[in-house]
Amino acid sequence: METLQRLTRRQLEALRIVAAKDVGGRGVALKAIAASLRVRPPSALARLGPLEELGLIARHRGKSRATPRGLACLAEYVRHHRVAESIFARAGLSVEATHEAALEVDLALSHRTVDEICEAEGHPTVCPHGDPIAPCSTARGGAR
Ligand SMILES: [Zn+2]
Ligand SMILES: [Zn+2]
Repeated sequence: METLQRLTRRQLEALRIVAAKDVGGRGVALKAIAASLRVRPPSALARLGPLEELGLIARHRGKSRATPRGLACLAEYVRHHRVAESIFARAGLSVEATHEAALEVDLALSHRTVDEICEAEGHPTVCPHGDPIAPCSTARGGAR
């Protein structure tokens, strides 16, 4: 199973917050993570444990940082989400509906499936909301 497929939505949310709040690379305190997640610190900590085990965050003196692997995982997640939005848009869903629909599948899809969908869709460069979609490995290989 790929890393993204092993994450719960709540763990992903915690990873996003750690990455977003870690300005300057000093790490984010548990209290700040808990406040952003709107949960109590023990609940926040329960989400950070699995992220640390997967090597997506590193914790030092009570502060959490996203690792390069964690950042790569987030970038991959965004790609999964936006490619999924693109297929739902093509299937006829409204732009607003594509976001919710993509949330139902974006963590479950494998990178390979996402790349295959991306290729079948002609490598869309933006999602239905106009946000950029990072090139897939198929596009990167084909660009040479
Ligand atoms: Zn592509
Ligand atoms: Zn979008």
